[in-house]
Amino acid sequence: MILYRLRCEGEHEFEGWFPSSVSFEQQAERGLLSCPQCGAHTITRALMAPAIRRGAGDGAPMDATGDAAMGTTGTTGTG
Ligand SMILES: [Zn+2]
Repeated sequence: MILYRLRCEGEHEFEGWFPSSVSFEQQAERGLLSCPQCGAHTITRALMAPAIRRGAGDGAPMDATGDAAMGTTGTTGTG
């Protein structure tokens, strides 16, 4: 499931869960989506994160800020 931030023609923003990005597009084209506030069927996908861009390709996170776990925890105390 993917959480999308949606926006209607009345600039009402709301969120919706979709099984995939294709599912959202299909529902939007068929007019199945409607704004919970004004009931508009012109729903577009609002920008949610700067990393998400339209286009073919696998979603690979750009940010690679991960601290490598290089900690050896060994305690052998005798005597
Ligand atoms: Zn609306």
